[in-house]
Amino acid sequence: MLKPKIKDALTKQLNFEFESAYVYLGMAAYCQAINLDGFAHWFQLQTKEEVEHGMKIWEYLSDHGSAVSLSSLPEPKTNYASIKEVLEVTLAHEQQVTASIQNIYKLAVEEQDFTTQSFLNWFLEEQVEEEATATKILEQVGMVGPQGHGIFFLDRELGRRE
Ligand code: MG
Repeated sequence: MLKPKIKDALTKQLNFEFESAYVYLGMAAYCQAINLDGFAHWFQLQTKEEVEHGMKIWEYLSDHGSAVSLSSLPEPKTNYASIKEVLEVTLAHEQQVTASIQNIYKLAVEEQDFTTQSFLNWFLEEQVEEEATATKILEQVGMVGPQGHGIFFLDRELGRRE
């Protein structure tokens, strides 16, 4: 059985992962609306990944005999000033997710919950990847500028994400 504090923190994180999925789906809608289909495809896959993160926590809770509870999600933004803003918000969002995972880790240390610490290691490593990818795309968007050929080719490249 998980300690109540750990269960609550993981439940919040599970819901935060689904919220992330919805935030990225809103971004995909924006990208589609401005004809950046490659970016839209990238954010759709990102949405799927966030759902998978949520489901990992779901299984962990379930393996420990904890019932999963789901909360309502805020309406995601589907209108942004530019593709650059989308990537800025993405990076800030992932930094927030990292901080959130680190806080649960801290709690697991305090509660001497070694299994949850081990479980969270995967998420800590995943966050390094998430932040690095968001930073890279944001910098590439900055390199090519908001208009013209560059963004067109970047869009094509992101459209190839599998
Ligand atoms: Mg995630």
